Amino acid sequence: MFRTEHEPLALLVELTPRLAKKRFREEIYKDWDYKCAYCGDDASSLEHIIPKYRSGCSSRHNLVPACTKCNSNKASEKMETWFEKQPFFSKEKLKSILYWMESNTLEFIDTYINNAIA
Ligand SMILES: [Zn+2]
Repeated sequence: MFRTEHEPLALLVELTPRLAKKRFREEIYKDWDYKCAYCGDDASSLEHIIPKYRSGCSSRHNLVPACTKCNSNKASEKMETWFEKQPFFSKEKLKSILYWMESNTLEFIDTYINNAIA
């Protein structure tokens, strides 16, 4: 099946990060039930809560699923400012998003510290 013994290895090296990324993204969708974190419609992409250009990172705590409309509508505006102006705004939803950011940040710090000490 493989021409050289190096082929399956090369394949593994190439596939694993891609699969890992896919799984990473899938987990976020699943946690939000595949719905837009803002309006509740079907999500079509992951959105940076703090935009990349404002130093928002691509870690779990800064990503939520969003529909095309919210994603393009929010663009680079500050999340809270933008969200409050939307007809579908609710304090409960805002709380869920802030809680998501906070709990995943704590997890992120825990992992970071454990790896640094170990
Ligand atoms: Zn939406």
